[in-house]
Amino acid sequence: MSRVIRAITRDGSARALIADTRDIVNEAIKIHSTEPTASAALGRVLTACSMMGTLLGEEEDMLTLRFKGNGEGGSVVASSDWKGNVRGFIQNPACDLPLRPDGKLNVGCCIGKGNMYVLRDVGGEEPYVGIANIVSGEVAEDIASYYANSEQVPTVCALGVLVDRDRTCAHSGGALIQLLPFADPAVTEILEKNASSAPPITKMLAEKSLEEILAVYLEGIEYDVFDEIQNGYECNCSRERTDRALVSLGKKELTEIYESEENTEMTCQFCGRKYSYTKQEIAKLIKEVKA
Ligand SMILES: [Zn+2]
Repeated sequence: MSRVIRAITRDGSARALIADTRDIVNEAIKIHSTEPTASAALGRVLTACSMMGTLLGEEEDMLTLRFKGNGEGGSVVASSDWKGNVRGFIQNPACDLPLRPDGKLNVGCCIGKGNMYVLRDVGGEEPYVGIANIVSGEVAEDIASYYANSEQVPTVCALGVLVDRDRTCAHSGGALIQLLPFADPAVTEILEKNASSAPPITKMLAEKSLEEILAVYLEGIEYDVFDEIQNGYECNCSRERTDRALVSLGKKELTEIYESEENTEMTCQFCGRKYSYTKQEIAKLIKEVKA
């Protein structure tokens, strides 16, 4: 299981989340057969999305995070429920770039420049969509900038995915610290100082518990851990949802499918599950399309 712990400072100035997402990222690597750079890019987006998902209020709410950059990896998409159960994919899982001069996987080049989207489906008619420019493609910086500029929430974000020689994920996780309205400037100053002197998150994940990592970010501030959530890589696709997706293609496209193929196979892009349809089944779906 992956897990996230959540804390709030005693004076209500800030909330902090620390997540271990190694199991989530390993499942993603297995499903999508990603090369190391793609694993790191997808892993960071999954980690960010999972943490952001736990900030949703209701059980039916969903949060989707999408990076649409011009890098070799193409689009990276992740979708989370309110417990941080998350699923995702990268358009080009074969993306593998030379390491950066500092020895890190080059996620910035994998994602590239473009836009990022945060979509919150919170039960209303229309989902809320926030759009921002991708600042660096390194994901953590982009998330912090998105929150600060698009939602006016000053945010510290750290994300890290360490891919082992055997291509599995050795460590993965993140930190998300956000100022709450009317934050005490003195607390803000300590948080900034702690964040800038904190060691890289993957190094801390290798050596410390989530509670100890939290203590690094909140050093010198009184706080309470208010919960711990266990989560994982979960896809909610089903035969019924696939039916609906096919029906939504409309009569013309479905008829083309009916005429061109004996059997149609639909593959879920998040989990790889396959759903196959016979000609008769496609014909039945054509009848369900509203004229
Ligand atoms: Zn699926």
